[in-house]
Amino acid sequence: MFWADELAARVSGPQVVNDSKTPSGTVHVGSLRGPVLLDVIVRALRDRGIPTELRYGVDDMDPMDAQALLTPDAVERAMGVPLSRVPDPAEDGHPSYARHFAGLFVATFDGLGIHPDVYYWMSEEYGSGRMDPFIRSALDGAAAIREIYRRVSHVERPPGWLPVHVICPECGRIGTTLATDWDGETVAFACRADLVDWATGCGATGRLAPFSGSAKLPWNVDWAAKWSLFGVTIEPCGKDLATAGGSRDRADAVAREVFRRDPPLRVDYEFLNLGGRKMSTSKGYGAAAHEVAEVLPPEELRLLFLRPRPNQAIEFDPVGTDAIPRLFDEADRLAAATAGREVRGELPADHERLFAMSLVERPDDLLAEAAAFRQPFAHLAFLLQVPGIDVLARVEAEKGSPLTPRERELLGQRIASARAWLESYAPESARVAVQERLPDAAASLDDAQRSVLVGLAEALEDQQPWTGDALQAAVFEAARIRGVPAGRAFAALYTAFLDRTNGPRAGWLLASLDPAFVRERLRAAAGAGTLST
Ligand SMILES: [Zn+2]
Repeated sequence: MFWADELAARVSGPQVVNDSKTPSGTVHVGSLRGPVLLDVIVRALRDRGIPTELRYGVDDMDPMDAQALLTPDAVERAMGVPLSRVPDPAEDGHPSYARHFAGLFVATFDGLGIHPDVYYWMSEEYGSGRMDPFIRSALDGAAAIREIYRRVSHVERPPGWLPVHVICPECGRIGTTLATDWDGETVAFACRADLVDWATGCGATGRLAPFSGSAKLPWNVDWAAKWSLFGVTIEPCGKDLATAGGSRDRADAVAREVFRRDPPLRVDYEFLNLGGRKMSTSKGYGAAAHEVAEVLPPEELRLLFLRPRPNQAIEFDPVGTDAIPRLFDEADRLAAATAGREVRGELPADHERLFAMSLVERPDDLLAEAAAFRQPFAHLAFLLQVPGIDVLARVEAEKGSPLTPRERELLGQRIASARAWLESYAPESARVAVQERLPDAAASLDDAQRSVLVGLAEALEDQQPWTGDALQAAVFEAARIRGVPAGRAFAALYTAFLDRTNGPRAGWLLASLDPAFVRERLRAAAGAGTLST
């Protein structure tokens, strides 16, 4: 059974699925794995008739702690300040740094078919006073929380340490303050220059009531409080937080021992390793989520995250490789198998469910969606490089009938993807140019290769249909009847047309060209050696 269906089978009663994110800067594509998993869990629950709410939160009370995206004059002012109170560095109309970067990230959700029922902002939850009861419980239970930190994570807090971060009323920083001495209504605070090395507090001290938005809970405690506030029953958890003794274990213990509830069901998930390196939002490498969404249509991007089980890391190295074409090919195999066609190679377990879950919206007719004509990506990338070609006409010739509106939509997505891929990702070997004149290298073809080219030219005299598959078969046949290995025949074709010894599928190469030009070039290449001697 598909993993999300297994999860759905284990629960009963209405479910609240939650996740949240700190909007500390540009979000990289790997960060979309969590939201895609959330959506798949919600779909699986709803498919079983379980009433389900999906909540997605922005942890915008967290302190600004990464200065990469700030202008130099803003660093001194903004570091340590809640993200909801840091000005938008892009100055494009957002009220805050948090709104700008969270906005960029969640803007990708809709196109991926991820539709949270509720978006919430922790600055608003704190500001409204809805978090106040949990702040009070945490302060009353401070000793228990210190004990949980010690027991679960081996983190020692000093005896007077309190689980609350107040916003300094003097300088507005939250990352630089230390709170002590809870008297039931107020805490003492000190805004310290040396508390953290990424921000400098102003030195203010005093007492304040840590409620109604003037303070937040430390991250693990805040996490557990959200589960109580929203009644969360299921929450996925990225590997960085899921380690033994890590953040999630602490939050689970705080939920049980301080807020007196069971923590939500966990779905731990691994990272996406892009080009072998962990995609990190704080280290600045890797591709931004909204950039990768330009080269992968939503269904292929969903599939990238859904192919492995959540607890398996994803290795994806799209630059200078054929990883992107292979992802499209895998999507096509799943579609073909779902449509009942025979496919080569092994299929993943529950491949039909995987195909359905990769779709952005639930189609009215899954079989029709699966059966829709999909132009193989590598072929399309090649077609786009042939000057003067009518791509739609070529694709319709391959299909053998006009494209449906949905097929045109799929083709449009793929054309955009293939262009972006050729521009920024494709290896040199994928860049091809049909040579206007017969390449000099044709002189080096041997007699066996020449005989295949001549034979092929004859066989193509009345060739119908002029399609990639038909021409591919014709090449194989021309080689077979002359006893020439297919690889040598293909090399001859690439030499004659592309001036290189490898290339896209030969049938496709020929099908993209004018039949008379193809026959003429084949004959010229076959005679090239003779002419030159
Ligand atoms: Zn201060």
